Amino acid sequence: MSLSRKELLEEMGLSPVWVRRDGPSVARRATQGAGKVAVAAERTPPVREDNRSVAAPSTAGAADRWVGVELMDWEQVHRSITECRACGLCAERKQAVPGVGDQDAGWLFIGEGPGAEEDARGEPFVGQAGRLLDAMLAAIGLKRGEDVYIANAVKCRPPGNRTPEVAEMAACFPFLKRQIALIQPKLIVLLGRAAVSSVLGEDGSLASLRGKTLAFRDGDRDIPVLVTYHPAYLLRNLPDKAKAWEDLCRARALMRKLQGK
Ligand code: SF4
Repeated sequence: MSLSRKELLEEMGLSPVWVRRDGPSVARRATQGAGKVAVAAERTPPVREDNRSVAAPSTAGAADRWVGVELMDWEQVHRSITECRACGLCAERKQAVPGVGDQDAGWLFIGEGPGAEEDARGEPFVGQAGRLLDAMLAAIGLKRGEDVYIANAVKCRPPGNRTPEVAEMAACFPFLKRQIALIQPKLIVLLGRAAVSSVLGEDGSLASLRGKTLAFRDGDRDIPVLVTYHPAYLLRNLPDKAKAWEDLCRARALMRKLQGK
């Protein structure tokens, strides 16, 4: 008897504990029950766990944009990203940075946003942090572009490399969500808090989320999600590299199980 992905995860004792519903909102903490995943999510405006409202995207016609994006193919997604002016980050970008890699990848790594080098070259993770990410991938037998896709929570560079704002990530999320739907990865690895906030709508510390198997709901499918540090953070906090290594080993083990190896 073949098991569904959800059943397989449950068999492995890896039942997702977090799920973000479809939509541009910030999801709230899922209530953990006996083996069940319960989801609470707000629509508009987004609400944080502390019940403080966060700024909604300043985009007019956002609902129409969602509908449009979720029907796009790869070419349309890329063109729409490069032409997008849905948030203020378009103002100072040299170019948008949609993402790079294998469009049928089993692995999807999601970071924060483009930095200066990425903005100049149009590819995510090409600077010093990118070289560290490539080394991290190599450490678990992966290579950029080979069964790996790399994307960011926002596709345009935040000025001064600041952290993207919640409203900017919400404005950009339809593109990321569509990329996830097109790739249909087996496993998503979130690099840093901004990616966690964008994908899971969670503002908690990385320490509280590392080591857990989370989930992103894509239609009727839950995609396993793991969380680790952003390479740029690791460059500034070398002792935490050991923790990132633990996370990567866990990711590799989970992927092997998902692949039935
Ligand atoms: S960051 Fe995303 S939503 Fe904002 S302008 Fe760029 S592509 Fe559009």
